[in-house]
Amino acid sequence: MGRVVFIGAGPGAADLITLRGAQRLGEADVVLHDALIDTALQRMAPHARWISVGKRGFAKSTAQAAINEQLVSLAMEVALVARLKGGDPSVFGRLEEELQALAAAGIECEVVPGVTAALAAAASTQRPLTRRGTGRSVALATAVTQRGALHASRNADTEVFYMAGQQITALALRLRQAGWTADTPVLVVSRAGWPDERASSHRIDEMEAAAALHAGRPTLVTVGAGATAVRAAGPAAHRDGVDSPAQ
Ligand code: SAH
Repeated sequence: MGRVVFIGAGPGAADLITLRGAQRLGEADVVLHDALIDTALQRMAPHARWISVGKRGFAKSTAQAAINEQLVSLAMEVALVARLKGGDPSVFGRLEEELQALAAAGIECEVVPGVTAALAAAASTQRPLTRRGTGRSVALATAVTQRGALHASRNADTEVFYMAGQQITALALRLRQAGWTADTPVLVVSRAGWPDERASSHRIDEMEAAAALHAGRPTLVTVGAGATAVRAAGPAAHRDGVDSPAQ
């Protein structure tokens, strides 16, 4: 019986995969990958059989059950199956269901982490997710519940919403209901980590302008402390991070 390795591919460009992820990919006999994977990754496993299991166009639950079954049957057939997922496998990647299915079949697994989209967006826009004094906590949240309803929260100083792209206008309303003020900064980034990445800055009460700009693209919405642009430090700023006294 073979093994399954879950590999985080990173958010886009192939060079954001980890060295360990690339190495395991090169050892795989079969690669099961999602729709959002960069095709340049295929060169890291040129001899493997590549199977796309993107869920678009399928009823989600049926598609997930089919993927679970396929993982189990492939692991019975070959020595190493790579399950390549966009970003990090542990973040909104249905990893729990797939691990459960493999555990039930007694198949050995390994998980190799990847760069999740929130980190790629923070890096490319140079907007740190934590800030000394103002940004002490970060939440990765999904804007959509299991039943498809839109949901927003305010659990951290910086909140990054995944899967919000189609409903930016409605999300603004939910954010207000969750207690964020109208002038809270919002950063919207689509296709983070790709050459055609787009980023735009808004306030919550003006964020509907982002809907057209990012339509049809994988999109993240960062709200709060981590959404603001970093300004050049003034000459009076202290190096130890203590605010300079008011003039
Ligand atoms: N496991 C992935 C997330 C999968 S859920 C990760 O760790 O990044 C899919 C959602 O992730 C999309 O709806 C979108 O909100 C976000 N996403 C994935 N890739 C993205 C990218 N390159 N840029 C912006 N958002 C992205």
